[in-house]
Amino acid sequence: MAHVIIVGGGVTGLSAGIHLLESGHGEHRVTVCESGAVPGGNLTGWDRAGYHIDNCVHWLTGTNPATKTYDMWCRLGALGGVELRRPDSLFTCRYGGQSLSLYRDLERTRRAMLALSPQDRRETERFFRAVRAMQGLCGIAGPAHDKKLSPPAAVGAIPELLHYHRMDTGQLAACFRHPLLRCFMRSLCGDCFSAAALLMVVAHFCGENGDLPAGGSLAMAQRMANRLTSLGGRLRLGWSVEKVNLVEEGDRLRAASVSLTGGATLAADYVIITADPRSVCGKMLPSPLPPSLAKRYRDPASLRFSAIQAAFGVPVGALNFSSDLVTDIPSAYRKTLGSGQVVFREFSHEPSFAPPGQVVVQAMAFCTEPVARQYIALAHTPTAYARQKQAVATAFEQLLGELSPAAASRLRLLDVWTPATYKRFVGSEIGSFMSFVLRPGDAFWRRADGRIPGVENVILAGQWLHAPGGLPIAAEEGQRAATTARRYLERQAAAERRPAHIRISFG
Ligand SMILES: Cc1cc2nc3c(=O)[nH]c(=O)nc-3n(C[C@H](O)[C@H](O)[C@H](O)COP(=O)(O)OP(=O)(O)OC[C@H]3O[C@@H](n4cnc5c(N)ncnc54)[C@H](O)[C@@H]3O)c2cc1C
Repeated sequence: MAHVIIVGGGVTGLSAGIHLLESGHGEHRVTVCESGAVPGGNLTGWDRAGYHIDNCVHWLTGTNPATKTYDMWCRLGALGGVELRRPDSLFTCRYGGQSLSLYRDLERTRRAMLALSPQDRRETERFFRAVRAMQGLCGIAGPAHDKKLSPPAAVGAIPELLHYHRMDTGQLAACFRHPLLRCFMRSLCGDCFSAAALLMVVAHFCGENGDLPAGGSLAMAQRMANRLTSLGGRLRLGWSVEKVNLVEEGDRLRAASVSLTGGATLAADYVIITADPRSVCGKMLPSPLPPSLAKRYRDPASLRFSAIQAAFGVPVGALNFSSDLVTDIPSAYRKTLGSGQVVFREFSHEPSFAPPGQVVVQAMAFCTEPVARQYIALAHTPTAYARQKQAVATAFEQLLGELSPAAASRLRLLDVWTPATYKRFVGSEIGSFMSFVLRPGDAFWRRADGRIPGVENVILAGQWLHAPGGLPIAAEEGQRAATTARRYLERQAAAERRPAHIRISFG
């Protein structure tokens, strides 16, 4: 029985383990080593003072049962028999006293945009034609009057999609004259993402394919962990892998074992590593980054980002928005929050996340890599870091009070977290939780090769090898790594005509 060690119990790692166990018919032994105390990695949530802070799923691609991604989530235990929360709108953008929501009903959003700005009719109609084309290509459609595009019509719309593929969200925003429409177009992806990424999100959400699993992120992670262990996989929490030990075999290297913090060693026939490759290569793994990944990390155009966040408890009914509210940050708060836009998200759809009569509201301001690095450096000086976190909390609190006056002075601060928190929690180099920004013209289908040159039985897997796409990308990457591992082990077994052994020693 071959022993596969998976480093990281996030979605990639859990998915890899489940696929290996499902496809291996009992031939593989799988151990997932997760340094954290809970499974899920970035798919997570935590409790504070009687409240639950849910820190991942804003939308989950693959909630439409007509899609293959839905089937994948069911196989992984994440969906299937799980109630889905289907919010009316994904977010509301507020600018200069006016608001516009991205409704589940695409036609309603289109009508609202036309009513708001008749002078932007041409650009608005073009945008919605492209969203429908995207839905046609992805094989999804919204309800009722949102008729699904026929396959030839969808193919005919490809030039229209390429128009958006070549521009960024800042350029798309500039195509509109009304300031609220400009703000709306920058709400989800900021200024520098490919506009095609925005089309994709709108297409999926309005195609009934971007909803929320009831119970939130941590519950979803726990269901996946249960699926892994029910198949016989071992999930070891608090097991941090310090080193992958390579031995020479002819002109190649082979991973023979991994060493854990604390001294234990686990023998391995194959190792799948799901942590941020930049925190792995040359550190845990004594090999450089594979060339295609090294190029991506080196390229100044490959942007990474993180976020500064806080959570508050607030009385039910005090907020004047539902779901997510996106707005520009007034100049008075920009320096403290290091960003031009803020997202406030309320959780009234999950009443159990707060004590009776209360609701959780979370604030999030994305930050660039230089700002993320400043937070990570600051965290080495605890008093200065605590001061900065307090300043962030105050800025978010005042801003929320201005936006929703009935909530002012009724907010109870629950927690503040920063890129330094992410770095400590999941070990990503700059505290980023999504892959590199998808830039205009980037091929979102292209992925880096996770194999390590010269090392035959180790593979890097996870969101970092792919364009950003969050949880479904992580799950697919796990499946891909499992297939590579299984094929390698089958070849080995055939060559040796005997199964590989498991050796576990603690020292
Ligand atoms: C605030 C927020 C909102 C998000 N919103 C969405 C959303 O709405 N929709 C969506 O699809 N995605 C969303 N995402 C992104 C999504 O969470 C990630 O894309 C996904 O979870 C990445 O999974 P992963 O397994 O590849 O990586 P990770 O989650 O980073 O998992 C890697 C794991 O490896 C572990 N690890 C690292 N080093 C070691 C070591 N040495 N030994 C053992 N274990 C180790 C880490 O602890 C971690 O658990 C969001 C993320 C955040 C933080």
